[in-house]
Parts: sequence; structure tokens; C-alpha cells
Amino acid sequence: MTTLDTGVKIVRNVGRFTFGDGAVAGVADLVASKRSGKSQNAVFLIDEYFKGQKDIAGSLGAKSADAVHFISTVDEPTTQSIDELVAKLHSSGHSSPATIVGFGGGITLDTAKAVSNLLTNGGHAADYQGWDLVRVPGVHKIGVPTISGTGAEATRTCVMTNRETGLKLGMNSDFTVFDHVVLDPSLTSTVPRNQYFYTGMDAYIHCIEALAGSYRNAIGDAYSRETVNLCRNVFLSTDMMASERRSDLMVASYLGGCAIATSYVGVVHPFSAALSVVFGLHHCVANCVVLNATGEFYPEAHAEFRKMIELQKIALPQGVCANLTDELRAALIAATIKHEKPLTNALGTNFRATLTDTRIISLFEKM
Ligand code: NAD
Ligand code: ZN
Repeated sequence: MTTLDTGVKIVRNVGRFTFGDGAVAGVADLVASKRSGKSQNAVFLIDEYFKGQKDIAGSLGAKSADAVHFISTVDEPTTQSIDELVAKLHSSGHSSPATIVGFGGGITLDTAKAVSNLLTNGGHAADYQGWDLVRVPGVHKIGVPTISGTGAEATRTCVMTNRETGLKLGMNSDFTVFDHVVLDPSLTSTVPRNQYFYTGMDAYIHCIEALAGSYRNAIGDAYSRETVNLCRNVFLSTDMMASERRSDLMVASYLGGCAIATSYVGVVHPFSAALSVVFGLHHCVANCVVLNATGEFYPEAHAEFRKMIELQKIALPQGVCANLTDELRAALIAATIKHEKPLTNALGTNFRATLTDTRIISLFEKM
């Protein structure tokens, strides 16, 4: 396939970042530095995993007048879950905090980004699903990832599902980018192995898709190549969770997020989005299920993925698409082909000539 040098229009990167084991100790000072005359309080959105950890909010700099919410990770963010959280903040007197801290995985980071935009822009989360619909900057926000791979700490989007319309789309905007990101690899030591692999592979998959696509640019390619190299360091090593490997993966996640801000994904993400919308499968595990079944599109990455998953002894869900009904088949096809940009990137503008309904379903049936 011929590639097209698309260049890079305008990309906004994270304002500032801190990196290194122990960097999380600096969050409290960062928060304190944002408190000013008119906005004294702060909002802390913390992954529910940390609920049992003694005084987690206090260690991040929370004071008694601040709002602390633990974010459930049972479901990925919905426009409704975001609206509910924003309503709670308004009613508790936290409408214009000095800063918002998002501490957790992609779900929590995306929630922090969406809440920040809504507190200053008003309206509902669904109003901003799309490109450049956010009108004014959100509240200052600090992102602290505690699991690596999605790149949510670096991107200009926050993925949300709108259950009413079935639309899974974020607020793609320069205003969605974190003002400050704190990258501390020591935070990821407690992630369960399977989850560590699934989420980490999101960075790998974003970048192998980008590098195999036709819409390309030299900056996106450079970010992607280094992300893939770092993921190989991690997942082809004997101990993917050794401290140096967790550091590699945190960097891969960040660079992968930068890659995706300047390039496009491919076939895996549209199929994965369909599994999420139709069966509620979470994004990162769904990606792994899809790559496992779609070797025909990415033969080399597929072989490498198989090597990684066997080496790390990771279990993948089986029979995800067993017992498909006609209704489910139609829903899966519709939810896949609506992602025209990545499918065009991977297969060309005429992608439906080769990606027929029959082929789509036979791929899902392998999952
Ligand atoms: P997650 O937020 O789904 O969390 C996964 C699990 O790991 C949860 O059970 C969580 O509690 C747990 N966890 C997190 N940190 C932990 C720790 N240190 N120790 C133990 N357990 C821990 O994680 P994810 O896979 O990073 O995020 C997926 C989300 O990211 C999806 O909603 C997806 O749509 C979104 N996403 C966003 C972007 C973006 O650019 N904004 C890109 C890709 C994916
Ligand atoms: Zn992804």
C-alpha cells in the first residue's frame, strides 16, 4: 500500500511532566502551588483500587475541604457517569477547584479530563463528544497513571460511551490535555499480571497499527518505533514486571500516547470498539482478543504478540463471540465499519471491497 505523508497539523503536548520512581511524592506540593485566593479547594479522583490504602488522598495533598471521589472501574466511563460526578461536585461546592488530580488507570484519567472540561464549559458530557467542541480551557488538571499502556496521560481525548446513542467517542480537544503529568513507575508494581499485559499491549497495538498504516508522518513514526521497541524490552523479557521494565512500559505508554496524537490506528481498534460496544468488553483486553484473531492483517506483529503472551503466561478470554445471533452479527458489523478513518488508514478508501460482512463475521467468530 502506498503511504501518504500527512505532516502534523497542530499538536498540543502535556504542559509539564515529572518522571521517576518516587515522583508521586511531589503531587502534594504541586496541588498546594495551585491553591490561590479565589480557588482554595481541589478535587481528587482516585482509582477505586486504592480505596483501602491508608490516607491515599492525604498523601496526594488533599485537605478536609477538598472533594475526594473513588472511581469505579467496573465499567468504562459513560457520558452519564461523567454527568453524575459533575453534578455531585457542583452540589458539594466544588464547581471551580484550583486543580483536579486524576490518580489511576485510563478510566480515572479520562474521567478527570472530562470533568475538568465540563466544570468550566457547562452542559453535558455528550455535548462535547467529537472534535474541537470544547470552547474554553478546563480546570487545571494533574494526571498520575498507576498502570501503563493506554497513553491516556498524553492524549487530547477522554473516551466515553454514550449509552443512549451507542457512540463511544471522546472530547477530542487541546483543552483535554493534562497540564501536568506525574510518571512514577513504582506505582504500577501492584497491577495484576493479566491486566498489566492487556493495558501494556494497548501501547504496542496503537503503534504497530500506526506504522502499518498509509497516513503517516515522520514524528508519529518516530514515537511509534520507540514505543514498539520499549514494549519489546518489556514483553520479550523474562520478568515483564521488574522495576526497570515497569519504567520502560510507563515511558512506552507516554510516547505511544504522543504517537496516537499525531497518527491513526488500524484494523484492531475498530473490531475492539465493536466488542466493547456490543459485549461491554474493556478496551485493552478487547484489543488483545482482536489481535489474537486478526493475524492476516498484521502477520509479524501477530507472531510477536503470540510469543509475548506465551512467554508471559497470560490468559485471554475465549469464545467471546460464541453463539452469535443475527442481531448481534448486525450490531458487530455496524460498530466495526463506522470507524472509517482507521480502516481507511489500514486498508485503503475502498476497504469494504475486501472487508465484507462475511469476512468481518468470520473474524469475530475466531475470537
Ligand atoms: P483501567 O482504568 O481500566 O483499570 C484497569 C484495572 O486496573 C482496574 O481494575 C483498576 O482498578 C486497576 N488498577 C489500576 N492501577 C492499579 C494498580 N497500581 N494496582 C492494582 N490495580 C490497579 O485501566 P486502563 O487499561 O489503563 O484504561 C482503560 C481505559 O482507558 C478505557 O476506558 C479506555 O477507553 C481508555 N483509553 C483512553 C485513551 C485516551 O487517549 N484517553 C486511550 C486508550 C484507552
Ligand atoms: Zn487503544
